[in-house]
Amino acid sequence: MKADQIIKNAKIFTADQCNPQATAFVVKDGKFVYVGNEAGLSAYEGEVTDLGGKFVMPGIIDSHVHITTGVGFEYTDLGVPVMCSTKKESLDFMADYIQKNPGLKRYRFMMERTCLAGEELTKEELDAICPDAEMLVLEGEVHSNWVNSKILEAHGITDETPDPVPELAYFVRKDGHLTGNSYETASWPMLFDSVNELTDEQISTAVLRWLDSSIKYGVNGVFDAGFPEHNQMNERIYKYLQVLDKQGKLPVYVDGCYVLTQPRKISEALEGVKRLNKEFNTEHMKVHTLKIFMDGTLKIETAAMVTPYVDTGVKGATAFNAEQMVEILKELNDAGLDLHVHTVGEAASRVVLDGVELAKKELGDKYHVKVTCAHLWVQDDADLDRFAKLGVTANFTPWWHSGNVGGNPIEYWPTFIGEQRARSMFRCKTMWDSGALVTWSSDEVFYGDFQNWSPYLAMEIGMTRWISKNTRFDESSRTVAAFPPESERMCIEEMLIGYTINGAKQLGIEAKKGSIVVGKDADYLVFDKDLLTAEQEGFSYNKPTEVYFGGKKVN
Ligand SMILES: [Zn+2]
Repeated sequence: MKADQIIKNAKIFTADQCNPQATAFVVKDGKFVYVGNEAGLSAYEGEVTDLGGKFVMPGIIDSHVHITTGVGFEYTDLGVPVMCSTKKESLDFMADYIQKNPGLKRYRFMMERTCLAGEELTKEELDAICPDAEMLVLEGEVHSNWVNSKILEAHGITDETPDPVPELAYFVRKDGHLTGNSYETASWPMLFDSVNELTDEQISTAVLRWLDSSIKYGVNGVFDAGFPEHNQMNERIYKYLQVLDKQGKLPVYVDGCYVLTQPRKISEALEGVKRLNKEFNTEHMKVHTLKIFMDGTLKIETAAMVTPYVDTGVKGATAFNAEQMVEILKELNDAGLDLHVHTVGEAASRVVLDGVELAKKELGDKYHVKVTCAHLWVQDDADLDRFAKLGVTANFTPWWHSGNVGGNPIEYWPTFIGEQRARSMFRCKTMWDSGALVTWSSDEVFYGDFQNWSPYLAMEIGMTRWISKNTRFDESSRTVAAFPPESERMCIEEMLIGYTINGAKQLGIEAKKGSIVVGKDADYLVFDKDLLTAEQEGFSYNKPTEVYFGGKKVN
């Protein structure tokens, strides 16, 4: 048989359990037609490439990223960092900046709540230093902000405006009046209100920048977890990716979604995802998944917990309850669609597991929705083995597994969630050993220099659980030691499997992608260094030298 590519003398990690290692393969018409050793090559004609023992693996699948939110941030200034230690100092700093930079339409700042030293910040105080322009102060990893009256007015938000999700995504009120502070989904439309004005050219420039970095890392499959409250923007970006795909210019498989954040939008979202499923179905740009925000984030205590936060005694709330999950799952099941859920706290993943359990009981063999819980910072012990039992995929973001706050995270987290839970975060190995499908992702929303989008950074921290002096990362984020528990560290094979065939299974494309197997797309990467024996510390510096997508070299 005439072949397009014949590779020999390679060290091939196939990600195929039945045939884990190989030294040779053959590609024809973009697919692997032979995988094995050199003895089998005699049946093929064509030029033979001797890789001289180089390491080869399947293309990487990042199973939770935000290409779409990244486009929004590309054109949304995060603001001037405020690093003061009292409310008065913070307000003086911002007032001074506004005075020195007159004439702007909007003033943007970024501040942690600790800068207020326990005091509250109100819209009246922001109005006093910024009466004529809009003012927005961003907080808590983009999950909350404070705004002045001008922004509330522009968005038509009044004392009577209902909260999207009480106790999770809401406008803070005092004596029934808005304070200007809002959380989660209530805050995002104000943060991103200029993105709807982006031109097609701006979108294209940003998307191409992402595409370029993705190819350099050898990431040629992604699940895009969407842009909350901006489904129209998701759609515009997917349309552009679809155009690229039709032109044969999309060397990354993109699996998109429709985002649901609040119960009152359930039926609108189900219609939305069904429509997108029909509209986006080219070879490398598809939508078949509803993405739900079930809770928020630990830092501002919007992550929903089974056991209360230790400092405030609150538990947070989930956006949906188990009955609503059943309703959603049944509709998705009828339409042949899937579900992906943002679940940071214990209670968030529990409500998903409860919903799946109830839906399975009701539908029996007819149930086939693929469900993924993403993030999984804290898990209740009672839920750890339910993922495997219920067939729910556990998606982790390993570059957070150092504790994700720099310095000594094991001194930081106990103040929120107590010592015991702080010592048992990110239990990916326990989950893996329980038989659950575990997948890896970067969950990044900022493009920037794409540093955090690197799967090799994630692999290093997933293996070591710390950011050492040898890690390719900001110096300020370095941690002092491995983040406990050490028993949750993964080995390189598990990192590679989670980033390839397991990712393909999550996306439902395992018949075509995710491993080097006869009949699958020839998506593969060549490295100078053998990743299986590479040093763990400094692993983040790895990068493929050659990237192939459907048998074509794309880097
Ligand atoms: Zn995300």
